Amino acid sequence: MYKANDERYEKMIYNHVGHSGLKVSAISLGLWNNFGSVDPYENQKDMIHTAFDLGITYFDLANNYGPKPGSAENNFGKIMATDMFSYRDELVIASKAGHQMWPGPYGNWNSRKSIIASADQSLKRTGLDYFDIFYSHRPDSNTPVEETAEGLDQLVRQGKALYIGISNYSGQQTKEISEIFKVLKTPFIIHQPRYNMFNRQAEQNLFSVLKKEKIGAVGFSSLAQGLLSDKYFDGIPIDSRANKITIPFLTKEKVQPTISTVQRLSEIARKRGQSLPQMALAWNLRIPQLASVLIGASTPEQIVENVKALDNLSFEPDELLAIDRILAE
Ligand code: NDP
Repeated sequence: MYKANDERYEKMIYNHVGHSGLKVSAISLGLWNNFGSVDPYENQKDMIHTAFDLGITYFDLANNYGPKPGSAENNFGKIMATDMFSYRDELVIASKAGHQMWPGPYGNWNSRKSIIASADQSLKRTGLDYFDIFYSHRPDSNTPVEETAEGLDQLVRQGKALYIGISNYSGQQTKEISEIFKVLKTPFIIHQPRYNMFNRQAEQNLFSVLKKEKIGAVGFSSLAQGLLSDKYFDGIPIDSRANKITIPFLTKEKVQPTISTVQRLSEIARKRGQSLPQMALAWNLRIPQLASVLIGASTPEQIVENVKALDNLSFEPDELLAIDRILAE
């Protein structure tokens, strides 16, 4: 029987999400990969327990996470039911709707019909009464944004979600839906953008809008799917994401062009007394809008290593400059 570490809250940092009362752990765990029906269940359990033992309170799901789609929610629900349910009120559990999930015209995108049905399915799979945060996974140009906002708002009114978030919306799209949420008085508090050293697009058009609208953020793919580590220096390890056919998003071809940049970044990290993943997470957290950075993991050890990023979050101006120079080359 699992019993959580009594010292779990001693080292983790908790940040407010925007101007809301909700705090999330500065590092959070995403279940996009390695929690599906194709992945060993005992390892999933170990990762969830390790994360919680280290003070991670925010766990990120979506209807389609797997493979097969839905199985990450099923597995998380099983772990909750078997040995985590007494900790439910210590957790912020999020899910999302908006990607292809079931056949026909209603299993995808952002109509009110799709959002409500998808959230109901996600609650069933996880066995939860409510999600702490429910997201629109991506913008949908074929559904009026008012309808998407009203669908999400309805989840809150029905007690199925406490807070609302959006993901992958541009600055302009964020501003637009934010105006509607204000009228509806929806507790819209969070955005989930991709943000890492290799993808800084959110700096261009999003963070300024979030600041103005007082909305917080949790960044995803914080380690560029593992590229921001030393693991690929000597080729592609068999058990790495770039080699897994169950995860088609990071291909072998994407690795080689990043190696020399990653090696130079790794050298800066070494001088700071950190591993590159630790430095990359600390670097992401310098953005004040980011209440948390989401990590994925394939082993409990990676979670232990990544949480140690919090031991050194500050950067000297010359370190930031050196990182910028390397990334600009
Ligand atoms: P990361 O960029 O953190 O990549 C995770 C992968 O990096 C791990 O699976 C592991 O890969 C490798 N890794 C992690 N830590 C280390 C380490 N210390 N040393 C070496 N390698 C390491 O995140 P993800 O891309 O997985 O995304 C994180 C979460 O963000 C998702 O689970 C999901 O919740 C969310 N997300 C949201 C999206 C959205 O559209 N809203 C889209 C994508 C993600 P390996 O298998 O090689 O060990």
